[in-house]
Order: sequence, then structure tokens, then C-alpha cells
Amino acid sequence: MNQDRRELILRELGLLPLWVPRDRVRPVPQRANTAAQEPPPQTHARVEAGDERAARILRSGWVELKQMVRTCTDCPLHASRRQSVFGVGDENADWLFIGEGPGAEEDARGEPFVGQAGRLLDNMLAAIGLKRGHDVYIANVLKCRPPGNRVPEPLEAARCEPYLLRQIQLIEPKLIVALGKTAASNLLHTEASIGSLRGRLHDFRGTPLLVTYHPAYLLRNLADKAKAWEDLCFARDAMTRLKAGARLKAGQPALN
Ligand code: URA
Repeated sequence: MNQDRRELILRELGLLPLWVPRDRVRPVPQRANTAAQEPPPQTHARVEAGDERAARILRSGWVELKQMVRTCTDCPLHASRRQSVFGVGDENADWLFIGEGPGAEEDARGEPFVGQAGRLLDNMLAAIGLKRGHDVYIANVLKCRPPGNRVPEPLEAARCEPYLLRQIQLIEPKLIVALGKTAASNLLHTEASIGSLRGRLHDFRGTPLLVTYHPAYLLRNLADKAKAWEDLCFARDAMTRLKAGARLKAGQPALN
């Protein structure tokens, strides 16, 4: 991307002069975490061997999976949704971005991140040379809109979990970016804050995962856009190394 276009995007995001070029970004402090200290990958305790429903989901291909999500009535959210929101993008993408759940516009249009937060997400993608649908897949923890956009209940997230897990298995992304607290806590099974999770790689069942702020949060907390920019640069650098065949370990901090 040329400098003018990049500057245009950053200006539109309201990130200038806050968002500064990579070589002037303050280093993300290196944390003590090492691969050895990172908690071991979680087994999906909620997807038990005897759970026939989960087993069927985890055997499905794209067509069957989409159909199951479209017709799902396995948690109370189906009653208030207009439609479920499966996910969108390149089904062979190296990049997988995961948000919380559909809002009103997503519920109406059937596509994730098409509202105001979605426009910011598209601009964030553009800032690191990415575009929705081009080597990028976007999904959510929840496939149905929680009334009033409230945070998902544990039961709702648990019922949706095998759907997301199967999407991840089918896509086989090189890197997962968890957008916000709900995505991070459901994927990593932790209650830790975004502030404490960002700046280093985590492991999601063998796939590197990093955590950044949710675009909706960034719309309300402009000062944290600079940190999100650091995270995106970290993600871009991690992907460059992954594409070059590097094996990145959980706990690996952002390089500068
Ligand atoms: N917020 C999300 O987390 N996902 C969407 O699809 C839209 C808004």
C-alpha cells in the first residue's frame, strides 16, 4: 500500500497523529511469559466425547455446517434472531478474525461486522494491507444476536462453541486474531483482561492466536487505538514469519 493511501486510511480512522509508523512505535514491553509458562492448551471440556450434537458438528463439511447454523434452535437466542450469522470470507484464509456476536445490523443482513464496528474493522484490515474476503475470514463466538447486544451467556457461548471450532478446523488459519474480551475469554478460557493478554502469542489448539481490542470498544476509547495499531503490526509481522515457515511459540512477545 502506498504511503498516501495508508495515511488516508489512518486519518479516516482518527489514528493520526496517534498511530505512528512502526519504527517509532514504543516497544510492547516484553513479558516474562515463555512457552513453558503459558498454560497448556485447553481441552474443550464442554465438548465431551458423549455429546452427539457436538460430534456431528465436528464431523460436518461447510455445506452441512452452514445448514446447521442456519436452522439452529439449540439455545434461547434463536427465538429473537432474524437470522443466524455464520461468518464470511475466504474459507482457506490464513487470517481469521473472531468477534463476539452479531449486532442489529448483522442480524438484519446476515453478515458479521457490517455495522459501525465493522467499518472500523475493515479500516483496521486495510491499514495492514488486508481486505475482507481476501485471505481473511471473519466469524463470531455467537452466531445469533443477543437481545440488546448484551454479552453472551455461558450457555449460549457453549452451544455455539462447536460451530466456531469446526469453522476453525475447516479454515485452518495460520493466525487467529481474537477481537475483544468475549472472543479472548471463550477461545482461551480465561478471565484475564485484554490488556494482560495482548502483546504476545497464545496457542489455540496448535494455531497461534493473538488478542486485541474489539472495534466497538475502540470506537468508544480512542486512546486505545494506538495499542490496537501495535497489535495489528504485531499480527502482520507474525504472519510474515508464519508464511515464511517459522514456528512461533505461545508466549512469544511482539518483536520490535
Ligand atoms: N460485533 C461483533 O463482535 N461481531 C459482529 O459481527 C458485529 C459487531
